[in-house]
Amino acid sequence: MPDATPLLELRGITKRFPGVLANDAVDFDVAVGEVHALLGENGAGKSTLMKVLYGLYRPDEGEVRLHGAPSGIATPAHAIEAGVAMIHQHFMLVPTLTVAENVALGLSSNGLLLDTSEVAERILELSTRYGLHVDPSAYVWQLAVGERQRVEIIKALYRDCRLLILDEPTAVLTPIEVDELFVTLRTMATDGVGLIFISHKLDEVLALADRITVMRDGRVTGETAPSATSRVRPSGSANWPRRNSSDHGVGWTRASSARTASTSPSPMGRSVTSEAVLRGATTVITPHRPGSPS
Ligand code: ADP
Ligand code: MG
Repeated sequence: MPDATPLLELRGITKRFPGVLANDAVDFDVAVGEVHALLGENGAGKSTLMKVLYGLYRPDEGEVRLHGAPSGIATPAHAIEAGVAMIHQHFMLVPTLTVAENVALGLSSNGLLLDTSEVAERILELSTRYGLHVDPSAYVWQLAVGERQRVEIIKALYRDCRLLILDEPTAVLTPIEVDELFVTLRTMATDGVGLIFISHKLDEVLALADRITVMRDGRVTGETAPSATSRVRPSGSANWPRRNSSDHGVGWTRASSARTASTSPSPMGRSVTSEAVLRGATTVITPHRPGSPS
Protein backbone atom coordinates (compact mmCIF):
# COMPACT_ATOMS: atom_id res chain seq x y z
CA MET A 1 0.00 0.00 0.00
CA PRO A 2 1.31 3.47 -0.76
CA ASP A 3 2.31 5.65 2.16
CA ALA A 4 -0.74 7.77 2.97
CA THR A 5 1.19 10.37 4.99
CA PRO A 6 1.13 13.62 3.00
CA LEU A 7 4.44 15.00 1.83
CA LEU A 8 3.34 18.43 3.02
CA GLU A 9 0.66 19.59 5.44
CA LEU A 10 -0.07 23.24 6.16
CA ARG A 11 -2.39 23.45 9.15
CA GLY A 12 -4.24 26.59 10.19
CA ILE A 13 -1.71 29.00 8.71
CA THR A 14 -2.49 32.59 9.61
CA LYS A 15 -0.27 35.47 8.47
CA ARG A 16 -1.04 39.12 9.11
CA PHE A 17 0.58 42.21 7.65
CA PRO A 18 -0.30 45.66 8.98
CA GLY A 19 -3.95 46.10 8.02
CA VAL A 20 -4.09 42.86 5.98
CA LEU A 21 -5.03 39.32 6.92
CA ALA A 22 -3.01 37.69 4.12
CA ASN A 23 -3.64 34.08 5.23
CA ASP A 24 -6.59 33.20 7.44
CA ALA A 25 -6.33 29.72 9.00
CA VAL A 26 -5.31 28.06 5.73
CA ASP A 27 -5.12 24.26 5.44
CA PHE A 28 -3.31 22.84 2.40
CA ASP A 29 -1.51 19.58 1.69
CA VAL A 30 0.45 17.85 -1.06
CA ALA A 31 0.89 14.11 -1.58
CA VAL A 32 4.00 12.45 -2.94
CA GLY A 33 3.89 12.70 -6.76
CA GLU A 34 0.94 15.08 -6.78
CA VAL A 35 0.51 18.34 -8.68
CA HIS A 36 -1.62 20.50 -6.41
CA ALA A 37 -2.64 23.81 -7.97
CA LEU A 38 -3.27 26.91 -5.91
CA LEU A 39 -5.68 29.09 -7.86
CA GLY A 40 -6.74 32.63 -7.04
CA GLU A 41 -6.75 36.24 -8.09
CA ASN A 42 -4.08 38.78 -7.23
CA GLY A 43 -3.93 39.45 -3.52
CA ALA A 44 -5.62 36.17 -2.55
CA GLY A 45 -2.65 35.20 -0.34
CA LYS A 46 -1.02 32.50 -2.49
CA SER A 47 2.53 33.86 -2.47
CA THR A 48 2.34 34.62 1.24
CA LEU A 49 1.33 31.03 2.00
CA MET A 50 4.27 29.72 -0.05
CA LYS A 51 6.70 32.12 1.64
CA VAL A 52 5.55 30.79 5.00
CA LEU A 53 6.20 27.23 3.81
CA TYR A 54 9.62 28.20 2.38
CA GLY A 55 10.79 29.93 5.56
CA LEU A 56 10.69 33.49 4.20
CA TYR A 57 7.85 34.46 6.57
CA ARG A 58 7.08 33.20 10.04
CA PRO A 59 3.35 32.46 10.43
CA ASP A 60 1.42 34.15 13.23
CA GLU A 61 -0.40 30.87 13.78
CA GLY A 62 -0.37 27.38 12.35
CA GLU A 63 2.04 24.62 11.53
CA VAL A 64 4.05 23.35 8.55
CA ARG A 65 4.55 19.56 8.52
CA LEU A 66 6.72 17.52 6.15
CA HIS A 67 6.35 13.72 6.01
CA GLY A 68 4.11 13.89 9.07
CA ALA A 69 6.50 15.82 11.33
CA PRO A 70 7.01 19.53 12.06
CA SER A 71 9.16 20.85 9.20
CA GLY A 72 11.47 22.98 11.33
CA ILE A 73 11.90 25.28 8.32
CA ALA A 74 12.71 28.81 9.51
CA THR A 75 14.85 29.99 6.57
CA PRO A 76 15.09 29.21 2.84
CA ALA A 77 18.37 27.39 3.57
CA HIS A 78 16.46 25.03 5.88
CA ALA A 79 13.85 24.57 3.17
CA ILE A 80 16.46 23.55 0.59
CA GLU A 81 18.04 21.16 3.09
CA ALA A 82 14.59 19.65 3.68
CA GLY A 83 14.14 19.09 -0.08
CA VAL A 84 11.81 22.03 -0.67
CA ALA A 85 12.56 24.35 -3.60
CA MET A 86 10.76 27.44 -4.82
CA ILE A 87 10.71 29.01 -8.27
CA HIS A 88 9.90 32.64 -7.52
CA GLN A 89 8.04 35.08 -9.72
CA HIS A 90 11.37 36.89 -10.05
CA PHE A 91 14.39 34.70 -10.68
CA MET A 92 17.33 34.53 -8.30
CA LEU A 93 20.19 33.70 -10.69
CA VAL A 94 23.49 35.57 -11.00
CA PRO A 95 23.56 37.05 -14.55
CA THR A 96 27.38 37.25 -14.78
CA LEU A 97 27.85 33.52 -14.06
CA THR A 98 27.26 30.61 -16.42
CA VAL A 99 24.37 28.17 -16.09
CA ALA A 100 26.67 25.52 -14.59
CA GLU A 101 28.19 28.03 -12.14
CA ASN A 102 24.74 29.16 -11.07
CA VAL A 103 23.63 25.57 -10.51
CA ALA A 104 26.78 24.83 -8.50
CA LEU A 105 26.55 28.02 -6.47
CA GLY A 106 26.25 27.30 -2.77
CA LEU A 107 26.78 23.54 -3.17
CA SER A 108 30.45 23.22 -2.23
CA SER A 109 31.50 22.87 1.37
CA ASN A 110 34.97 24.42 1.02
CA GLY A 111 33.84 27.72 -0.47
CA LEU A 112 35.08 26.84 -3.98
CA LEU A 113 32.91 26.10 -6.95
CA LEU A 114 32.51 22.45 -7.86
CA ASP A 115 34.20 21.14 -11.00
CA THR A 116 31.94 22.76 -13.57
CA SER A 117 32.50 20.02 -16.17
CA GLU A 118 31.01 17.48 -13.74
CA VAL A 119 28.19 19.88 -12.98
CA ALA A 120 27.61 20.39 -16.71
CA GLU A 121 27.41 16.64 -17.27
CA ARG A 122 24.74 16.26 -14.57
CA ILE A 123 22.87 19.28 -15.95
CA LEU A 124 22.72 17.60 -19.35
CA GLU A 125 21.40 14.39 -17.77
CA LEU A 126 18.66 16.31 -15.97
CA SER A 127 17.98 18.35 -19.06
CA THR A 128 17.44 15.18 -21.11
CA ARG A 129 15.33 13.42 -18.48
CA TYR A 130 13.01 16.37 -17.88
CA GLY A 131 13.02 18.13 -21.27
CA LEU A 132 14.76 21.22 -19.88
CA HIS A 133 16.86 22.52 -22.76
CA VAL A 134 19.74 24.72 -21.61
CA ASP A 135 23.41 25.19 -22.49
CA PRO A 136 25.44 24.72 -19.28
CA SER A 137 28.21 27.01 -20.56
CA ALA A 138 25.93 29.93 -21.48
CA TYR A 139 26.00 33.05 -19.32
CA VAL A 140 22.69 33.68 -17.60
CA TRP A 141 22.59 37.29 -18.86
CA GLN A 142 22.45 35.83 -22.40
CA LEU A 143 19.34 33.76 -21.67
CA ALA A 144 15.70 34.52 -22.38
CA VAL A 145 13.35 34.45 -19.44
CA GLY A 146 11.99 30.97 -20.28
CA GLU A 147 15.53 29.60 -20.32
CA ARG A 148 16.26 31.21 -16.95
CA GLN A 149 13.23 29.48 -15.52
CA ARG A 150 14.55 26.14 -16.81
CA VAL A 151 17.86 26.84 -15.08
CA GLU A 152 16.00 27.46 -11.82
CA ILE A 153 14.16 24.15 -12.18
CA ILE A 154 17.43 22.32 -12.97
CA LYS A 155 18.95 23.93 -9.89
CA ALA A 156 16.11 22.51 -7.79
CA LEU A 157 16.45 19.05 -9.38
CA TYR A 158 20.24 19.13 -8.88
CA ARG A 159 19.57 19.59 -5.16
CA ASP A 160 17.21 16.60 -5.25
CA CYS A 161 14.10 18.56 -4.30
CA ARG A 162 11.09 16.50 -3.19
CA LEU A 163 8.64 19.40 -3.13
CA LEU A 164 8.74 22.14 -5.77
CA ILE A 165 6.78 25.38 -5.46
CA LEU A 166 6.21 27.29 -8.70
CA ASP A 167 4.77 30.77 -8.17
CA GLU A 168 2.94 31.85 -11.35
CA PRO A 169 5.55 30.15 -13.57
CA THR A 170 3.58 30.53 -16.79
CA ALA A 171 3.24 34.31 -16.53
CA VAL A 172 6.62 34.78 -18.26
CA LEU A 173 6.34 31.96 -20.82
CA THR A 174 5.24 31.65 -24.44
CA PRO A 175 2.44 29.12 -25.14
CA ILE A 176 4.99 26.60 -26.46
CA GLU A 177 7.11 27.03 -23.34
CA VAL A 178 4.01 26.47 -21.21
CA ASP A 179 3.44 23.14 -23.00
CA GLU A 180 7.07 22.17 -22.40
CA LEU A 181 6.93 23.18 -18.74
CA PHE A 182 3.86 21.01 -18.20
CA VAL A 183 5.66 17.98 -19.68
CA THR A 184 8.56 18.66 -17.30
CA LEU A 185 6.27 19.00 -14.29
CA ARG A 186 4.35 15.79 -15.08
CA THR A 187 7.65 13.93 -15.42
CA MET A 188 8.74 15.23 -12.02
CA ALA A 189 5.43 14.13 -10.50
CA THR A 190 5.92 10.66 -12.02
CA ASP A 191 9.26 10.57 -10.23
CA GLY A 192 7.49 11.24 -6.93
CA VAL A 193 8.14 14.96 -6.57
CA GLY A 194 5.24 16.89 -5.07
CA LEU A 195 4.45 20.12 -6.90
CA ILE A 196 2.58 23.26 -5.93
CA PHE A 197 1.55 25.11 -9.07
CA ILE A 198 0.30 28.65 -8.53
CA SER A 199 -1.79 30.30 -11.19
CA HIS A 200 -4.80 32.48 -11.77
CA LYS A 201 -5.59 30.71 -15.06
CA LEU A 202 -8.30 28.09 -14.68
CA ASP A 203 -7.64 26.38 -18.05
CA GLU A 204 -4.02 25.76 -17.08
CA VAL A 205 -4.74 24.27 -13.69
CA LEU A 206 -7.50 22.07 -15.09
CA ALA A 207 -5.05 20.70 -17.66
CA LEU A 208 -2.16 20.12 -15.28
CA ALA A 209 -3.28 19.58 -11.73
CA ASP A 210 -4.35 16.48 -9.84
CA ARG A 211 -6.08 18.75 -7.35
CA ILE A 212 -7.03 22.42 -7.22
CA THR A 213 -7.41 24.59 -4.17
CA VAL A 214 -8.98 28.00 -4.66
CA MET A 215 -8.02 30.92 -2.42
CA ARG A 216 -9.70 34.27 -2.06
CA ASP A 217 -9.09 37.09 0.40
CA GLY A 218 -6.67 34.96 2.43
CA ARG A 219 -8.99 32.00 2.79
CA VAL A 220 -9.43 28.65 1.06
CA THR A 221 -12.81 28.84 -0.64
CA GLY A 222 -12.90 25.54 -2.47
CA GLU A 223 -11.12 22.38 -3.54
CA THR A 224 -11.64 20.07 -6.49
CA ALA A 225 -10.02 17.15 -8.28
CA PRO A 226 -10.36 17.88 -12.01
CA SER A 227 -10.46 14.34 -13.33
CA ALA A 228 -12.43 15.44 -16.42
CA THR A 229 -9.39 17.37 -17.60
CA SER A 230 -9.14 15.88 -21.06
CA ARG A 231 -12.60 17.23 -21.91
CA VAL A 232 -11.87 20.79 -20.88
CA ARG A 233 -8.50 21.24 -22.51
CA PRO A 234 -8.54 24.60 -24.19
CA SER A 235 -7.55 24.81 -27.83
CA GLY A 236 -3.81 25.12 -28.37
CA SER A 237 -3.02 22.78 -25.51
CA ALA A 238 -3.28 19.48 -27.34
CA ASN A 239 0.21 18.57 -26.25
CA TRP A 240 -0.36 19.00 -22.56
CA PRO A 241 0.40 15.72 -20.88
CA ARG A 242 -2.29 13.73 -19.19
CA ARG A 243 -2.44 13.72 -15.47
CA ASN A 244 -1.41 10.34 -14.15
CA SER A 245 -3.78 10.21 -11.22
CA SER A 246 -6.48 7.61 -11.05
CA ASP A 247 -9.89 9.04 -11.80
CA HIS A 248 -11.96 9.39 -8.68
CA GLY A 249 -14.72 11.42 -10.27
CA VAL A 250 -14.99 15.12 -9.65
CA GLY A 251 -16.23 16.37 -6.35
CA TRP A 252 -16.44 20.11 -6.19
CA THR A 253 -16.39 21.19 -2.58
CA ARG A 254 -17.05 24.62 -1.23
CA ALA A 255 -15.87 25.59 2.18
CA SER A 256 -19.47 25.87 3.35
CA SER A 257 -21.26 23.26 1.22
CA ALA A 258 -20.31 20.17 -0.71
CA ARG A 259 -21.79 18.62 -3.80
CA THR A 260 -20.80 16.00 -6.32
CA ALA A 261 -21.70 16.57 -9.94
CA SER A 262 -22.78 13.86 -12.35
CA THR A 263 -20.49 12.89 -15.20
CA SER A 264 -22.90 12.52 -18.11
CA PRO A 265 -21.66 14.16 -21.30
CA SER A 266 -23.27 17.39 -22.44
CA PRO A 267 -24.05 18.22 -26.10
CA MET A 268 -21.03 20.50 -26.16
CA GLY A 269 -18.70 17.53 -25.69
CA ARG A 270 -17.71 18.70 -22.25
CA SER A 271 -18.87 16.74 -19.30
CA VAL A 272 -21.47 18.17 -16.98
CA THR A 273 -18.89 17.70 -14.27
CA SER A 274 -16.35 20.03 -15.81
CA GLU A 275 -19.04 22.62 -16.52
CA ALA A 276 -19.98 22.46 -12.87
CA VAL A 277 -16.37 22.77 -11.84
CA LEU A 278 -15.87 25.72 -14.14
CA ARG A 279 -19.01 27.44 -12.86
CA GLY A 280 -18.09 26.77 -9.29
CA ALA A 281 -14.53 27.92 -9.71
CA THR A 282 -15.30 31.03 -11.68
CA THR A 283 -17.82 31.98 -9.04
CA VAL A 284 -15.26 31.55 -6.35
CA ILE A 285 -12.49 33.47 -8.09
CA THR A 286 -14.56 36.45 -9.23
CA PRO A 287 -12.22 39.30 -8.37
CA HIS A 288 -13.18 41.55 -5.53
CA ARG A 289 -13.29 45.13 -6.75
CA PRO A 290 -12.35 47.86 -4.30
CA GLY A 291 -15.45 49.71 -3.21
CA SER A 292 -17.90 46.93 -4.05
CA PRO A 293 -19.66 45.15 -1.21
CA SER A 294 -17.84 41.98 -0.24
P1 ADP B 1 -1.17 36.56 -4.19
O1 ADP B 1 0.16 35.91 -4.29
O2 ADP B 1 -2.32 35.61 -4.12
O3 ADP B 1 -1.38 37.60 -5.27
P2 ADP B 1 -0.08 37.78 -1.80
O4 ADP B 1 0.21 36.66 -0.88
O5 ADP B 1 1.06 38.38 -2.52
O6 ADP B 1 -1.25 37.39 -2.80
O7 ADP B 1 -0.77 38.96 -0.98
C1 ADP B 1 -1.85 38.74 -0.07
C2 ADP B 1 -2.18 40.06 0.63
O8 ADP B 1 -1.11 40.38 1.52
C3 ADP B 1 -2.31 41.24 -0.31
O9 ADP B 1 -3.30 42.11 0.22
C4 ADP B 1 -0.94 41.88 -0.26
O10 ADP B 1 -1.03 43.26 -0.53
C5 ADP B 1 -0.52 41.63 1.18
N1 ADP B 1 0.94 41.47 1.33
C6 ADP B 1 1.71 40.52 0.74
N2 ADP B 1 3.00 40.66 1.12
C7 ADP B 1 3.03 41.71 1.97
C8 ADP B 1 4.08 42.34 2.70
N3 ADP B 1 5.34 41.90 2.64
N4 ADP B 1 3.75 43.41 3.48
C9 ADP B 1 2.48 43.86 3.54
N5 ADP B 1 1.45 43.30 2.88
C10 ADP B 1 1.72 42.24 2.09
MG1 MG C 1 1.63 36.11 -5.79
